[in-house]
Amino acid sequence: MQMSLPQPEPNADSLPYWQAAREGRLLVRRCTACGERHFMPRHLCPSCWSDRLEWVESEGTGRVESYSIVHRAPTAAFAAVAPYVIALIDLDEGPRVFANVVGDDAFEVAIGDRVRVTFEDRGNGAMIPQFARVKR
Ligand SMILES: [Zn+2]
Repeated sequence: MQMSLPQPEPNADSLPYWQAAREGRLLVRRCTACGERHFMPRHLCPSCWSDRLEWVESEGTGRVESYSIVHRAPTAAFAAVAPYVIALIDLDEGPRVFANVVGDDAFEVAIGDRVRVTFEDRGNGAMIPQFARVKR
């Protein structure tokens, strides 16, 4: 049986992030008090606890800090697409994001690889920010 991968479930803190993703844009939060950029979206700065935050668009480029290839997926829907690559990616602007590495060469991923955001269509207009290796 073909199962669908889950749709995003936006909350008050993450709604602008998911709306931008639907338009092919990657947003991160920036603290206007200390300048720190962070991810996941939250309403207090994790560096200085200020609530003076704004959304800024990321260039969507970064570097693979670590990764794993998933062969035993946590749910039936993800088992249907296994194996797949999950990674910790350090964006050039600073925040660390957790995402899939996708694309024809995803399984050749290595720590230190340059990656760029891409958007996975989950249906009904929902787009999930993922990353693809930058070809050299
Ligand atoms: Zn701050």
